[in-house]
Amino acid sequence: MGNINKAKERKGYQMARFTLPRDVYHGKGSLEELKNLKGKKAILVVGGGSMKRQGFLDKAVDYLKEAGMEVELFEGVEPDPSVETVMKGAEAMRAFEPDWIVSMGGGSPIDAAKAMWAFYEYPETTFEDLITPFNFPELRQKAKFCAIPTTSGTATEVTAFSVITNYQTGVKYPLADFNITPDVAIVDPDLVVGLPAKQVAYTGMDALTHAIEAYVSTLNGPFTDPLSLQAIEMVLDYLPASYLGDMDAREQMHYAQCLAGMSFSNALLGIVHSMAHKTGAAFSTGHIPHGCANAIYLPYVIKYNAKNPVAASRYAQIARRMGLEGISDKALINSLCAKIDDFNVRLNIPKTLKDFGIDEAEFKEKIAKIAELAVGDACTGSNPREIDPAAMEKLFTCTYYGTEVDF
Ligand code: FE
Repeated sequence: MGNINKAKERKGYQMARFTLPRDVYHGKGSLEELKNLKGKKAILVVGGGSMKRQGFLDKAVDYLKEAGMEVELFEGVEPDPSVETVMKGAEAMRAFEPDWIVSMGGGSPIDAAKAMWAFYEYPETTFEDLITPFNFPELRQKAKFCAIPTTSGTATEVTAFSVITNYQTGVKYPLADFNITPDVAIVDPDLVVGLPAKQVAYTGMDALTHAIEAYVSTLNGPFTDPLSLQAIEMVLDYLPASYLGDMDAREQMHYAQCLAGMSFSNALLGIVHSMAHKTGAAFSTGHIPHGCANAIYLPYVIKYNAKNPVAASRYAQIARRMGLEGISDKALINSLCAKIDDFNVRLNIPKTLKDFGIDEAEFKEKIAKIAELAVGDACTGSNPREIDPAAMEKLFTCTYYGTEVDF
């Protein structure tokens, strides 16, 4: 009976594509797999300097040389990479003509390298051409792409996404296309040993949000569900210990975030991300880190979405699979939200935007516009319950004061 109901839930199921990197190398020391890449020239795109300080940059260069490749470095990709950086990188690639683009870093250098790749292969293209989702020209005409994450959250090493910022206009270009799903991902937990606790907390909650949003997304399906559930279970099992410095747990979190990425790259996300995208840099009191914003919004969004019966049953399935308390869907959903609240407390993440330090007058002044922008975000389309700007504003208000979502 349960199975028939599940099949009915999927009756709108349509033809779909499921795309992952061809190879995902994982495990301690898997960075060494770089020496088995086959090619002539590799450009290595990296960020600030933490990998350099820890010696991993030298290691990566040495492995690529062992592979018989000529290596050039492109260093200094900034957080929230700019259009200028992308263009500079593409130019360096056109001069050097690599057949491998290898990017190592948190989300930013990998995101930047994905966009450089497109402009390397298609110099005449523009960001305006690329922002139409799933409309990229055919890549891999000149190079293949290898990504090596050094944080445990964005999963850009396995996703079809990249975000580039135009600082002149303040516009963010969210790029989405399976052409930019990397060919090779190297998920080596040695690279995340040195992460600061705060970053472990934020990126870990980002990964949990990816898995939960993908599981309830309108594009969820039998190929993404197992990845979401496994990722959720691993985050619940390992994130608190990883935060406290347990390196075995941190290793598992590095894999969990990657599994969540495999899921959401194909099932997409929902309005937790819409809200986080549009509030990250909106207030004068300072940037709200992406994972922190997600962690704050997630329980409120679950309550909002759960008014949709299909979404409610999906959240309840998550709670049941995680062994949380409750028999009715409602009780199970409450347990799931309580679990997230409990994680936020343990990870020192505030419960509301007010507690985060957003000024009340500024919030009230800006929230109508922010709500409108959040509704228009690329992630809203796959959210399981529809939302208009007025409801979005109400939802934001709940996240500011910590009030119940009852609409
Ligand atoms: Fe995210």
